[in-house]
Amino acid sequence: MTDTQALSRQSPLVQALAHGLQGRIVLPSDADYDDLRKPWLQVVDQHPALIVEAASVADIVAAVNFARTERLVLAVMSTGHGIAAPCDNGLLLHLSKMKQISVDVARRVAQVLPGVTSDELLAATQPHGLVYAAGQVSGVGVIGYTLGGGMGWLVRKLGAASWAVLGANVVLANGSVVHASADTNPDLFWALRGGGGNFGVVVSLEMALEPIPAVVGGELYYPLDQAADLLRFYREWSSGLPDETSTIFRLLAIPPDDSSPPEIRGKTNCMIGLCHSDTESADAVLEPLYRFRKPLLNTVKRQTVLDLAGLDLASHSPGSPTYGQVEFLKALSDDVIDGLVQLAQTRIPPLMQIEVQQLGGALVHGATEQGAFTPSAAPYLLHLVTPAIKAPMAEIAKATQEAFASLGDAYTGEAYYNFLRGDEQQRVTGAFGDTKYGRLREIKSRFDPANSFHLNLNIEPASLSTTVRAEIFGTKAAENS
Ligand SMILES: Cc1cc2nc3c(=O)[nH]c(=O)nc-3n(C[C@H](O)[C@H](O)[C@H](O)COP(=O)(O)OP(=O)(O)OC[C@H]3O[C@@H](n4cnc5c(N)ncnc54)[C@H](O)[C@@H]3O)c2cc1C
Repeated sequence: MTDTQALSRQSPLVQALAHGLQGRIVLPSDADYDDLRKPWLQVVDQHPALIVEAASVADIVAAVNFARTERLVLAVMSTGHGIAAPCDNGLLLHLSKMKQISVDVARRVAQVLPGVTSDELLAATQPHGLVYAAGQVSGVGVIGYTLGGGMGWLVRKLGAASWAVLGANVVLANGSVVHASADTNPDLFWALRGGGGNFGVVVSLEMALEPIPAVVGGELYYPLDQAADLLRFYREWSSGLPDETSTIFRLLAIPPDDSSPPEIRGKTNCMIGLCHSDTESADAVLEPLYRFRKPLLNTVKRQTVLDLAGLDLASHSPGSPTYGQVEFLKALSDDVIDGLVQLAQTRIPPLMQIEVQQLGGALVHGATEQGAFTPSAAPYLLHLVTPAIKAPMAEIAKATQEAFASLGDAYTGEAYYNFLRGDEQQRVTGAFGDTKYGRLREIKSRFDPANSFHLNLNIEPASLSTTVRAEIFGTKAAENS
């Protein structure tokens, strides 16, 4: 194993790796090491021995081979929105500079490289009236989001983003570059569509686009004291909506500064967000909503999915460590509604955002076998997320656990891969169910037998030996396996 302390710009190993790289190597002594090592969502504090900022597929192959031969742990980061485990003393493969996008308008297909973010892809497709099933926040990486499933503003219309994947080029743990599609390496193709970054480095992803030139969407804000009535209204209204409409309900604190409109500034508010993809029928969807209550603020209008994803008034600023947890709700029962209102009123912990995302629609109607992503039949997803600004992380974590516990047995117990925290490894099975998880482990055994890609929400190879397991996870874990 390489002595990582000894790595410097002059060391022969680093010089050999640097030779031929189109990108660059960044070492702890470099000025921008700190900027590059930090994920966008600062939930881990990692100190890699070296960072390879890749500019080409050959760079990625070189980095993967270097990590393997020098027995360094290897981690993959694109935007840093979903880092599950720190890369300490290892090689951090940074992909954010690889941003090429090509759009074949006639075929309605896009190909993206690993550094492409959601807003960048939409900006390239939207002028042609085309979209992909983007997430609710614009800066998330398209590939990372899609590999974990990808449920966003169009989830009830299009299902998961992973369903639209047509093919991928992947650098495997042994340094080879393979293609995965329905015809070539079909098992790998199946695993990539939901199984996250467990199977290799995806160096390009091809995905089908949908013709949705514009949507009617936006957010409606209401005072907190209407929360109980609004949630009951939301339950009835949302349950009758067509698949074209995706909705969310939030209870959220808006910062007191002038970054948000004065009507909602500095207060905890209720918010109903919607995205209706058939602009012709939007009036019928909106009419009951407008009839029910007059909002404090209404941003609903005809706009593009790109603009809608950039709208998020509550989005966290980069750099703020955040604690989040997600559970699938069996129903939006009266007990759940009362519990959520209570949580919002007591504001414990401060700044906690309570989000209910409506599921169903295409997730249920269109859910044939489309890769490893396993759609839940639950009607709603409950997401509690709190930036650690006004209270320490440990306090927020405890309060979040208590908040979930206060709603009793309201949950189905399933998990959503994209929203699991790094300390929820034991729930990865719950994102797939036993059968699919077993298949994922078999496929992992074939494509990454030594679990080189383990600094993630890990799917362990079925065949991982006790020796390799001990090297990665420590002797205790290996003995307990
Ligand atoms: C503010 C915010 C909003 C979000 N909104 C949504 C949402 O609406 N819907 C949803 O489904 N999810 C959402 N997510 C979760 C997000 O989709 C996941 O965290 C996803 O993994 C982020 O991918 P990334 O590449 O941006 O992040 P990174 O932190 O760079 O990557 C996360 C992991 O993905 C894997 N990975 C990334 N790129 C590659 C690649 N090219 N090859 C192989 N593996 C790779 C690696 O294992 C990596 O460790 C959100 C997250 C945040 C922080």
